[in-house]
Amino acid sequence: MKSCKEIIDLLSEYLEGDLPGDEAGAFETHMALCPPCVDFLENLKQTRALVRSLRCDEVPPEVQRQLRTFLDRATKRPPKRGKRT
Ligand SMILES: [Zn+2]
Repeated sequence: MKSCKEIIDLLSEYLEGDLPGDEAGAFETHMALCPPCVDFLENLKQTRALVRSLRCDEVPPEVQRQLRTFLDRATKRPPKRGKRT
């Protein structure tokens, strides 16, 4: 089974529909067993929907750049849910 980190790495491709069948199967198997990754996927979906709802000509280049950096980081960071401080 794939680790959470591997799954997070695949999230963007999964959402784009770019994952090959066997990878998508492994992804879905992990999702079925790992609630934190499901939450992370939901968050990412919502963020992407928000980004898509913005019209590019209304977003200053600087904000677009920051958004891209944020999304890039978000898809590379493993979920931190359940960790006690
Ligand atoms: Zn996971």
